[in-house]
Amino acid sequence: MSGKARASAVQGPTAPDPLAAGPLPAALIADVRALISKLDRDQRLWLGGYLAGLESRTASIPVAAAAVTEPARPLVTVLYGSQTGNSERLAKHLADRLAERGIRFTLLDMLQCTKAQLQEAETLLILVSTHGDGDPPERAVPLSELLAGRKAPRLDRVRYSVLALGDTSYEKFCEAGRQFDARLQALGAERLFPRAECDVDFDAAAEQWMDGVLGKIEQSLGPAPLRIHAEPASDRRISASVSNAYTRKNPFSAPVLANQRLTAHGSSKDVRHIELSLEGSNIHYEPGDSLGIVPRNRAEDVDALLERLAFSAQSTVQAEPQTTTTLRQALLERFEIGTITRPFLKRYAEATGSAELARFAAAADEEFARYARGRQLIDLVAEHSPTGLDPAGFARLLPPLAPRLYSIASSQRAAPDEAHLTVSIVQYESFGRARLGVVSGGLAELTSDDAEVPVYLHRNPAFRLPDPHTPIIMIGPGTGVAPFRAFLSERAACGAAGENWLFFGDRSFEWDFLYQSEWLELRKRGLLTRMDVAFSRDQSEKVYVQHRMLERGAEIWSWLEDGAYVYVCGDAQHMAPDVHRALLQLIAAHGARSEDAAAEYLLQLQQERRYQRDVY
Ligand code: NAP
Repeated sequence: MSGKARASAVQGPTAPDPLAAGPLPAALIADVRALISKLDRDQRLWLGGYLAGLESRTASIPVAAAAVTEPARPLVTVLYGSQTGNSERLAKHLADRLAERGIRFTLLDMLQCTKAQLQEAETLLILVSTHGDGDPPERAVPLSELLAGRKAPRLDRVRYSVLALGDTSYEKFCEAGRQFDARLQALGAERLFPRAECDVDFDAAAEQWMDGVLGKIEQSLGPAPLRIHAEPASDRRISASVSNAYTRKNPFSAPVLANQRLTAHGSSKDVRHIELSLEGSNIHYEPGDSLGIVPRNRAEDVDALLERLAFSAQSTVQAEPQTTTTLRQALLERFEIGTITRPFLKRYAEATGSAELARFAAAADEEFARYARGRQLIDLVAEHSPTGLDPAGFARLLPPLAPRLYSIASSQRAAPDEAHLTVSIVQYESFGRARLGVVSGGLAELTSDDAEVPVYLHRNPAFRLPDPHTPIIMIGPGTGVAPFRAFLSERAACGAAGENWLFFGDRSFEWDFLYQSEWLELRKRGLLTRMDVAFSRDQSEKVYVQHRMLERGAEIWSWLEDGAYVYVCGDAQHMAPDVHRALLQLIAAHGARSEDAAAEYLLQLQQERRYQRDVY
């Protein structure tokens, strides 16, 4: 009970009218009374929700839970899992549309969503993107694990719908959205409206899904609520639209300014520092963002494959749902020919009727990985020719050629018209052929000033520097160090006072110390407060960044207690989980916490955005 209500109860029938006791001037009080007298109970209730909703539109909705119409329970829970910010912006747009209708809602980042909030939700609207190899966004992982695990709650009283964002150039298109949909259904939730799956141009499909779910919600609320803003849905603009003009389908041709080898000759790796010009592009990035590079298969690889296939290069095939092109063009620009993916192998096995391939396609991860390692489409076709398939049927089986993302290693404050990348050149020999990575191989060969690279900006709002005074700890072995060069360059350019600690690891001190002279210079200037390195192959025992972290456990703990942010970039499969475990271990040891309490501490850091990862 609020203080005001309690006071009026004590004063009994002589208590002043709450309207008169409020902030409204007398003239407005009369208008409000006149309006109230014309409304029935339902209309008054609806108006209360509408006004609360309207308020939530003008005030910025915090990232954390925003129950806009307390104390009444929200009718709708809008839950977003966002990697690049698109799902979050769409979720806020949906919240605006709910507010316009006076429908009570809560807007939640998936990382903030508790088990109880899920169970209590009446209508759950999920907006989630997919990244990497069909993975949910970093901040959606704990929720997706909860829903898939033994502790998953029953959701029998929940109605839901999913808006899945994805990119058709990846094989596991909208996989995270599909998984959320499947899990919710398996846990007993009732699908209110079919899942929508959106490609990179998501505006129209997202708006259509919102129209659909809002229609269903309004239907279930009974008589149509009063409409104050009655603009037609088709006229409404999604405020979430991505602002920069260049996209995967319409990239900017960035001239190459520099291409220097970072690893010394004699190294087992060829890692390049590449500088691209963004002049005239109007691309504005922030430290932490990535650059997408649109791939193109090498002509000699495509021609060798065509020769092996014995199909005419000029045969007509479908490249996009509505577009046809020649087989050669599609193999150059549209289809993946450099790796064998499991779904593709399954389709190929079915189409060719090969029991042997079907067995590999269904094999355990390790066996499949052994089969696929170093094998490309040309090798598969040589071993199992696509008998019975025509060029169009063959092309239909192929996986799409996905863009490659590279963390930007520069700051626009320091180099306004440039983007720097740290690229490890993929090159190896297999099945008697020299192989080169589709993008990295092409980049390695660019030397002249007039070479251009098709790029677009891929925002990464979940990987951002804190305010300039906050200390940061950065963990980036190998090319995972790229965004930290950007962070430090940004902090140097704006004179940030916060302390900076870098953990770097690579194979050998002598050959693989990427950007060594730059780090030394930053140490001298005092900008890089601390640096710890781990060179894994300089001794018989492997030494990795997480070993250095454990050695420095007490100091890391003290930085954490002083409010430091922690960043991890690089390999998702082994390094990131090992670093995570090291953090848990040092928090438990130096923070005198149990295993569970350490896990809770780390989760809280994540929720406060003080533990951010960019791993894949
Ligand atoms: P790498 O040579 O594969 O690895 C760098 C160092 O990490 C090596 O010393 C390696 O040791 C060590 N390492 C291996 N397993 C580890 C583990 N479990 N924990 C900690 N360290 C471990 O480096 P890279 O070729 O530069 O690739 C690094 C990763 O970063 C790749 O997965 C890449 O996709 C990713 N990445 C790149 C960018 C970018 O912008 N370029 C951005 C984000 C992520 P040993 O090999 O001796 O075992």
